[in-house]
Amino acid sequence: MKIKKGDTVLIIRGKDRGKQGKVVKALPKENRIIVEGLNLVKKHVKPKRAGEKGRIIEISAPLDVSKVKLICPLCKQPTRVGYTFINDEKRRFCKKCKGSFN
Ligand SMILES: [Zn+2]
Repeated sequence: MKIKKGDTVLIIRGKDRGKQGKVVKALPKENRIIVEGLNLVKKHVKPKRAGEKGRIIEISAPLDVSKVKLICPLCKQPTRVGYTFINDEKRRFCKKCKGSFN
């Protein structure tokens, strides 16, 4: 997957379109990511003990990687990512500035 944990992404589709956030979890098997503070969904939490009230909390739901663009760590622009090999090491590169990064 071209997007990894720790990347900053721009959301290009859906209700959070135009917002940026940090990837806190990558789910390569599902081609999805979780972006900190974005794609929030309400979740009901049942009371754990008698006398406690149930609550509604907001959590970040996984988002399809096709709905985001990577913000290049070098040129800070939303970009598409390619792969390149430098000294047999697979690295990602930015199609805008051609810079490579891991
Ligand atoms: Zn770049």
